Amino acid sequence: MLCVLQDNMTLFLFLMKTISERIKVANSSLSTYAVPHAGNLGREYKEAEDDTRFQFQRDRDRIIHTQAFRRLKGKTQVFVAGCGDHFRTRLTHTMEVAQISRDMARTLGLNEDLAECIALAHDLGHTPFGHAGENAMREEMKRSNETFEHNLQSLRVVTLLEEHKKKYPGLNLNREVLEGLMKHRTSFDEEHGQDLPRNPSLEAQVVNLADEIAYTAHDTDDGLRSEILHFTDFADSSLFQEAALISEKNGTEVRGSIIHLLVIDAYHDTELRLRANSINSLNDVYESEVPLCAFSYEMTKRLSDLRGILEEKFYASADVLKHSNKGRQIIHELFRSYEENPPEKVRELKGRTKSSLSEAIKDYIAGMTDQYALLRFEELPPRADRDPAIATSTGGK
Ligand code: MG
Repeated sequence: MLCVLQDNMTLFLFLMKTISERIKVANSSLSTYAVPHAGNLGREYKEAEDDTRFQFQRDRDRIIHTQAFRRLKGKTQVFVAGCGDHFRTRLTHTMEVAQISRDMARTLGLNEDLAECIALAHDLGHTPFGHAGENAMREEMKRSNETFEHNLQSLRVVTLLEEHKKKYPGLNLNREVLEGLMKHRTSFDEEHGQDLPRNPSLEAQVVNLADEIAYTAHDTDDGLRSEILHFTDFADSSLFQEAALISEKNGTEVRGSIIHLLVIDAYHDTELRLRANSINSLNDVYESEVPLCAFSYEMTKRLSDLRGILEEKFYASADVLKHSNKGRQIIHELFRSYEENPPEKVRELKGRTKSSLSEAIKDYIAGMTDQYALLRFEELPPRADRDPAIATSTGGK
């Protein structure tokens, strides 16, 4: 009884705390190098503080309630979405990244809410048809000396294309979330080099790793589930072999063991890097010239070996390529057709966002689900040089 009374009293006192007091308590459990719960950089348009939610909780809610977030369920991860109920879509991938990001942030004493925001928004700008769609979009944009990169498109979605209030474009998220999206760079960025004004927050770095952990583990799982891959294909992957041994011993799936091995390695190496670089404050993180959240050298090599197998035997398999090529062709044809004859939606986007025609076409097509892109493609006037197989199916194994 005393215990119940005490619990009720604790709850009562908790409810009595102001948001500033609650933020103070929450900040006291963060590492000194984490982004604090009230944020430091603010929003572009000033807003009154929420009565109950912290800054990044509000941002998370705005991201989840966008149309772009809901459309992630119809976008391909590796397979064409809809061809099998158990394969990952961009939505389930995003949820897995958010889950791993939160776990890692909590263990490292970082801001879980911020990491979750960055994870939930990181693929909002992805095209339909996975990386094949992204490559086709990049080729189309290149014709007008522009480019396409899904992370920057995610930033465009939350700062311009989506709407939270009539008063301003975009969601008016905290700048830490926007920076996290900008700094969530792929090898494409590294190859082409872009100015990095400062090192990303550790929360953003965690999401980068969580993304790689999630897609490596779930693509391995999807590859096996589809029977395109078999255990014997992974004979040369020490990471897979170790994960398989653990999962056999525990009676669990290999996917979970791959995640476990990668996450544990990242914790160890990150702690070592934080100590070796004398990181004690958020400013130290920003000023650091080296990544602080990373896998060990040995694990990077093992991960690369596993990814090499996925590249060669899964992504480049005839079954997957068949869909990818269809997706690529659909993006090319939609883009060319809209250039010749812009539909109402493209004209509206062009006017509202004060963009070039190619940008508006890119925004429209990048936002489509696989199925919607196929429907729009089927409406296009027939072309003599079209591959008849393209329009007939989104189905797969
Ligand atoms: Mg991703």
